[in-house]
Amino acid sequence: MKKIGIFGGTFNPIHKGHMYLADTVSDTIGLDKLIFMPSNIPPHKSADDLYANEIRFEMCKLAAESDKRYEVSDFEIRRQGKSYSVYTVEHIRNLYPDDIIYMLLGSDMLLSFDKWFRFEDILKNVALAVVSRENDDIDDLKKKACELRKYGQIELLSAEPFPVSSTEIRNKIKNSEKYSCYLPEKVVQYIRLNNLYR
Ligand code: ATP
Repeated sequence: MKKIGIFGGTFNPIHKGHMYLADTVSDTIGLDKLIFMPSNIPPHKSADDLYANEIRFEMCKLAAESDKRYEVSDFEIRRQGKSYSVYTVEHIRNLYPDDIIYMLLGSDMLLSFDKWFRFEDILKNVALAVVSRENDDIDDLKKKACELRKYGQIELLSAEPFPVSSTEIRNKIKNSEKYSCYLPEKVVQYIRLNNLYR
């Protein structure tokens, strides 16, 4: 039986906080494979400044070159419409019927998880692997994990937070501030080459 991870997000752009979550969960849980899943239209947040699917997908591909366990799926992009995670999870479950599947989440996503469309069905198919994003959210996370455990498995990993967001990075680029330390090197090169987020 293998351990497979799914890591969904807008990845606009993918940054070192994402890679930190990916690396932490992959190493701590011992994942055999981690599938990055850039979304089409995110159901949980505004898509106003969302870059084109191809661009976000390409940046994920470049970032995923860092580890041979990592791959990138275009399933949500091809599906079009709003990217409800339950459909993605059911798709991956069909591909890997006998394996253990983890869905990776940062803390903000766990805290709102019980508002997600058919979250109970998500938890029938996958365990959640969660890493804190902020220094002061651990109590809230533990409380939410307790509430959700009646629906399925929630793993709270203890790791120092790496507090950075795509929004902050987009703003830094727009304002000509330093940003390269927050991104994988190949993603920095891609952003510069294509003059993105200016
Ligand atoms: P934005 O600022 O555009 O809203 P974001 O930085 O929150 O984007 P997403 O692509 O929306 O990034 O996040 C995808 C997943 O990665 C979510 O589960 C989110 O909680 C998690 N994540 C993002 N940044 C971090 C971080 N710094 N540490 C841990 N998890 C993170």
